[in-house]
Amino acid sequence: MPSAFPSALLGSGRPLTLRGAGHSCDGQTVTDGELLVTYAPNMAAAQIRELGDSLVEVPAGISWYVLERYLNRHGRAVPVLTDYLHASVGGTLSVGGIGINSARYGMQVDHVERIQLIDGTGTSRWCSRTKHSELFRFALGGLGTVGLIERAVLRTVPYYRDTHVHRRYHATPSELVEHTEWIAQRDDVDIYCASMRRGKLFSTTGWRGHGPRRCGEENCAVVPDLPFESHPDTARPVAPSAGHARLWTDYMVPAGRLAPMLAAAETLWHRAPLNDVLTMLYILIVRRPPDSTSFAFIPVGSAPISIGLGVYTSVHRDLTATAATRRVFRDLLERCCELGGRPYLYGINDLDRALAEQLYGNDLDQLAQLRAAHRLENVNAHLPLVGAALDTDICHVGARPRA
Ligand SMILES: Cc1cc2nc3c(=O)[nH]c(=O)nc-3n(C[C@H](O)[C@H](O)[C@H](O)COP(=O)(O)OP(=O)(O)OC[C@H]3O[C@@H](n4cnc5c(N)ncnc54)[C@H](O)[C@@H]3O)c2cc1C
Repeated sequence: MPSAFPSALLGSGRPLTLRGAGHSCDGQTVTDGELLVTYAPNMAAAQIRELGDSLVEVPAGISWYVLERYLNRHGRAVPVLTDYLHASVGGTLSVGGIGINSARYGMQVDHVERIQLIDGTGTSRWCSRTKHSELFRFALGGLGTVGLIERAVLRTVPYYRDTHVHRRYHATPSELVEHTEWIAQRDDVDIYCASMRRGKLFSTTGWRGHGPRRCGEENCAVVPDLPFESHPDTARPVAPSAGHARLWTDYMVPAGRLAPMLAAAETLWHRAPLNDVLTMLYILIVRRPPDSTSFAFIPVGSAPISIGLGVYTSVHRDLTATAATRRVFRDLLERCCELGGRPYLYGINDLDRALAEQLYGNDLDQLAQLRAAHRLENVNAHLPLVGAALDTDICHVGARPRA
């Protein structure tokens, strides 16, 4: 139900599931109850407000595509864009937001100045690093567990039309890992991503800049408006193929630990029949800004530089095949934790209390307290993260107490 009065709905105390564009991958926005949908990209465009000082205020239901087009016309840009631009701003800020520009600018949540958040009493308040800072820290990357983000004030950067891009092929996974770790230690790179798909390994490194500055190297190009280009290496089909489910997840490990994380993914993936379902492994670098906030549930912990490994599968919609894939994901999640990393919560992650405690420590109990204090017991109550915080088992829709 798209709602013009989200405060009234949240304040009604009725069980609600919050939804942006619905692109998360583990039933986060699926319910047989009531959905509160914010996604309205075209209507939202009229509500963009320029606040000066490089800040822009937007409704949560706007898409990154509409926002970036608007900003570019005004000589500005979003610092970090994900590779799919038709998700909602609110839904992506509720998971974190990582993209090829993360090698320079960290996560999308690192560029949020403040958010307007509605709690379970229908109360709306502006939250920032200094005002209601705990709600701010839990809402961004928090899967809608501490309320509905209604509006956000975002920092912008100058718009450069061109990006100078190098695409490079790699002979072996270890060569790709070595190259990625080397780039992660450089602070002069604006964009980076790498992928392994159908036996082909390649990376893309880039620098933002005006004008056609060709360096003459092989596989070098100047690409106009890169975020809108459909890359063979970054574009992923939005709809899963018929009869298939899209089971995706990403693991972020501190820089220096990509090799063991990738080795775990490769080893597990050679277990038949899983090698048939893997469509791509995808690598991104995240360099957090020096003053970044320690958001409670984002995929990056305290490491200043992290490397993400995305594991994307397309699985037949039957219980045996999906269960087998989920078992692999669970093993990878445990390996990620051993390596000091974190999962990206938009994806498939079978979190239980023990693992969640290991990952999030005291923030898990703090989440339970915030939800109680702000009367959010009925909002997004089906999420495993909420179950872990309350120490209850969650089946896909609805919570049931641990026996
Ligand atoms: C094709 C594709 C490519 C992708 N590429 C990337 C990528 O490059 N980088 C990346 O970081 N991610 C990527 N993702 C993941 C994507 O960023 C997340 O799934 C994101 O949540 C999508 O936004 P959404 O509007 O669809 O959110 P939804 O799926 O609708 O919601 C996500 C979560 O946020 C909650 N929520 C939604 N709106 C609000 C709100 N206004 N206030 C509070 N809570 C809310 C929901 O309850 C849910 O728990 C990709 C996904 C797809 C399908």
